[in-house]
Amino acid sequence: MRRRHMTRAIVIGGGPAGLAAAVALASEGASVTVLEADRELGGRARHWEGDGYRINLGPHALYPQAERILNGLGVKVTGRTPSQDLTFELDGRTHPIPSGPLSLLSSGAFSLAEKMRLARLFASIGKPPPASLATQTVAEWLDGLGLTGGARRFAEAGVRIATYANAPERLSAAVAVRQLGSAQVRYVDGGWGGIVDALARRAEGLGVTIRTRAKVRSVEPGAVHLEGEALACDAVVLAVGPKRAVSLLGAHAPASLRAFAEEAAPVRASHLDVALRALPRARPSLVLGADRPLYASVHSSYAEVAPEGGAVIHLGRYLAPDERVDPAAARRELEAVLEQIQPGWRGHLVHARFAPASLVMHALPEARSGGVAGRPAALVTPGVAVAGDWVGDTGLLLEASLASALAAAHAVMPLSVSEPRAAV
Ligand SMILES: Cc1cc2nc3c(=O)[nH]c(=O)nc-3n(C[C@H](O)[C@H](O)[C@H](O)COP(=O)(O)OP(=O)(O)OC[C@H]3O[C@@H](n4cnc5c(N)ncnc54)[C@H](O)[C@@H]3O)c2cc1C
Repeated sequence: MRRRHMTRAIVIGGGPAGLAAAVALASEGASVTVLEADRELGGRARHWEGDGYRINLGPHALYPQAERILNGLGVKVTGRTPSQDLTFELDGRTHPIPSGPLSLLSSGAFSLAEKMRLARLFASIGKPPPASLATQTVAEWLDGLGLTGGARRFAEAGVRIATYANAPERLSAAVAVRQLGSAQVRYVDGGWGGIVDALARRAEGLGVTIRTRAKVRSVEPGAVHLEGEALACDAVVLAVGPKRAVSLLGAHAPASLRAFAEEAAPVRASHLDVALRALPRARPSLVLGADRPLYASVHSSYAEVAPEGGAVIHLGRYLAPDERVDPAAARRELEAVLEQIQPGWRGHLVHARFAPASLVMHALPEARSGGVAGRPAALVTPGVAVAGDWVGDTGLLLEASLASALAAAHAVMPLSVSEPRAAV
């Protein structure tokens, strides 16, 4: 075997994307250091833990495509798919969510004509969307299906829960169709921090050095700068948001990356996350708003995130791209929804956290830029790559972060393509 020096790789950001990139780089034989600005790893996937409760940062559901990538990285996840007492609210009334043609036929929420049109929608999901849908907005797609009134609002609610986006006039229909076909999500036992911990353990097992409280100030090909410290390297993966990546790269950021960071529309949500000693009511386990862009779900019914008898409930409001949030009003609205489904919840409260506008996804995949095809590729310049939910043409949310992390690791690793693994 030919001897050559071990690739020194630095990963900036210790969220799931950064940790996945570190695992991939180390698996390819690189000497890897992860630099995380915060005192803890995990980024947006971190959870709060106390009194036996694990509370994610807002409602988090693991999509099967993301789980497959985690499995490939050696991370196994358990937890169940929400499957019972799933409801939606339309015109002030609560109905079971139809999950297929039979339950759609028996639904009391829609007229026969609406059911026929929704059946066409159901038939179009679960298979790869035609290429033409990438540049169509969700609104145009639903127009094409002839969906109006309550059936239209129900379909839009389905798109919101599947994509987190409340932007039917902008979101690419291909993205919506793909996500709607991935309904078998899992609520994760032990909270999403368990995914972070497992990735970190896997990375450390492969010899990765992980540094927290290590905020990177700037990056250039061949070096990463922290306060009072410069680290030489052969490869860098910036697993941070687009604006941060551009500011760290400074003059090395290509114009196309700058333009993308400037124009990207962030996807945000208000959320109320509560831990209760007991559930006032056993059902419903999920309520989806069709009249209003709301979500409420008892995550502890499907994942081990609460002690015996206790419950964790996540409520959310999907924000439109330019929506201004009145934090007090948003909180009141979510608390009122909770009171409606779990009357007297305050008497059982252990812990509550409210966030008026959390960043769920850095860049809405818009129809005008071809959906996910409009996102930047992982490789920025030789030896420098980016990763995150805004990078690459694969998937959404965590799946996009993980898929782009693997692409970034591959793009900066000279040995991964054709060379044998380095001998030290
Ligand atoms: C309310 C909410 C609900 C969500 N629901 C879902 C869901 O249901 N399903 C799903 O798949 N995804 C969901 N997500 C998204 C999911 O959490 C993210 O996709 C995932 O955590 C992104 O990981 P990441 O590593 O790309 O980015 P992040 O988690 O944002 O990690 C980036 C890291 O980089 C660090 N960093 C930044 N700048 C620097 C610097 N200069 N130096 C060093 N470190 C730096 C940050 O501190 C952070 O730790 C949700 C997110 C939110 C907020």
